[in-house]
Amino acid sequence: MIQQTLVLIKPDGLKKSLTGNILTRLSETKLEIAAAKIVHVSRELAEEHYCHMKEKPFFKELIKYILGELHKRRKVMAMVYHGEGAIRKLREIAGATNPEEADPISIRGAYGRITTSGIYENVIHASTNEAEAEREIKLWFEPDEIIYHLYPVEEVTVKNVKKKVWKK
Ligand code: ATP
Ligand code: MG
Repeated sequence: MIQQTLVLIKPDGLKKSLTGNILTRLSETKLEIAAAKIVHVSRELAEEHYCHMKEKPFFKELIKYILGELHKRRKVMAMVYHGEGAIRKLREIAGATNPEEADPISIRGAYGRITTSGIYENVIHASTNEAEAEREIKLWFEPDEIIYHLYPVEEVTVKNVKKKVWKK
């Protein structure tokens, strides 16, 4: 089944200069990158992304982690991977949530750690299932930022919206 999945290289991955290594590992999946960008994560985006974790005792720390506050590096690399079995392939190569339980040759097994405050710093995020992938991709990307037509779109005319453009 052709699928797409949201992949995030989390702030620890960027701080540890693991981007190249992670992309190399991900290329083993033979999937295609359909979108990629570096994101300055807002609190709103972080809380929406992890909305299903709200009741967890580590929610506050988890938000600090994805915001980059634990690593003093407020950025995340967001990507959409596309192709046959994308969700399963990405979850497999990412490894188990707990980096200590993850297969040592998975990305999380190789590069993750558990912090002293107990948060799993596991370097990478990959969507769990198709519904979550759709929710997350739509949260992190605008339709025009993805090279494929993945989900239905509609055209709207937006008036009086302030945005930055390059100075002439
Ligand atoms: P992600 O959504 O980041 O890809 P996941 O789907 O494998 O990870 P989730 O259950 O969605 O796991 O948890 C989201 C994130 O919360 C994990 O990646 C990890 O950083 C953190 N986390 C999850 N469970 C725990 C836990 N028991 N203790 C500490 N941190 C945890
Ligand atoms: Mg998850």
